[in-house]
Amino acid sequence: MNLHEYQSKRRFDKYNIPVPRGDIASTPEEARQIARELGGSVVVKAQVLVGGRGKAGGVKLAQNADEAEELARQILGMSIKGHIVHKVLIDPAANIVNEIYLGITNDRQTGCAVMMSSSEGGVEIEQVAHENPNAIIREQIGPSLGLRDYQARNIANAINLPREHWAAFTAIAQALYRCYTDSDATLAEINPLVITGDGTLLALDGKMIIDDNALFRQKELAEMRDTSAEPEAERIARKAGLTYVKLPGQIGCMVNGAGLAMTTMDMIKLYGGEGIGPANFLDIGGGAQADRVAAALRIILSDPNVKAILFNIFGGITRGDEVAHGILQALDEVKTDLPMIIRLAGTNSEEGLEIIREANLSNIHSAATLTEGAKKAIAAARGEL
Ligand code: GDP
Ligand code: MN
Repeated sequence: MNLHEYQSKRRFDKYNIPVPRGDIASTPEEARQIARELGGSVVVKAQVLVGGRGKAGGVKLAQNADEAEELARQILGMSIKGHIVHKVLIDPAANIVNEIYLGITNDRQTGCAVMMSSSEGGVEIEQVAHENPNAIIREQIGPSLGLRDYQARNIANAINLPREHWAAFTAIAQALYRCYTDSDATLAEINPLVITGDGTLLALDGKMIIDDNALFRQKELAEMRDTSAEPEAERIARKAGLTYVKLPGQIGCMVNGAGLAMTTMDMIKLYGGEGIGPANFLDIGGGAQADRVAAALRIILSDPNVKAILFNIFGGITRGDEVAHGILQALDEVKTDLPMIIRLAGTNSEEGLEIIREANLSNIHSAATLTEGAKKAIAAARGEL
């Protein structure tokens, strides 16, 4: 789950990371009011869950409250990379001397958190990693030790931070790490962390990604979820207890188990070549009860790109014949003419396939292996089955 900039910065503030003391507005009038209270020039910032707002015209400087209102009017309702702006953040404008990047993420290779920093702040870190990888400094953080003072100083030194800022930088880096772990985040990022004209450090932008699997114990953060920014299908899926991620391909995937779902997507990609790919990641969980299959089917069918559906179900504790009944019952509830390829494996898979064959539905095809299933689904998506 992504937090908005203003939510991330409020979180940072709780850890005493210096942030601008702005506020959030949903209307141009509110923006004017906030700007008037702040006094002086302000920056009007689109709150959308996507990076590069600055370049897209979503971050603008206003000299006074009138201008802030005018800019808010322009930015509210704007679409940035497909995300509609519903709120703007009005922050006092900062006098920027230098922009730094500071972030923490999970490093799967070393199995611990890693702090990353770069003197090239304000630019997206992926771009820096691509164009100038040596500019990114990394420090692994041991889970039992946390970020040590010397590590923060190593970073400060490596990014050529003037020595008078080292103490403040160390405090910010350690606070960011605490914020990251306390929040069960997979990313906590300040970009840019700026040196201001007054010689202080200030977190101008904030981004946090919270691990969805930890939201059960992060109630306060869970409530911050902005569902207006998510594809509707993902929202419905979450309610139904399904893990669904929409993808741009044509083949709907109905799979039990996350690993099997990944493999199914890989196989579609492998045989689909250019132009044909999976329409979604979907894990319907163990077994394949009719109501879950039906819910999943509705979600897959809501995507107009879908041209064929590949069922890849492994019968373990749930037997293949039960799965087959579940699928047929779901197809009875949710009618569709789209070609469906069903591959059943595991316990009682033969019985299961027999049940499906007997149902004699013209748009249903069975597959003995995943390879065959993937190839048939691709042919079906091309209208060649
Ligand atoms: P992003 O483009 O979505 O990452 O949004 P940011 O909040 O990082 O803003 C983009 C850029 O706008 C920053 O790197 C700064 O250069 C500039 N910017 C943001 N806030 C201010 C401000 O208060 N004053 C000035 N002068 N520039 C700002
Ligand atoms: Mn930024």
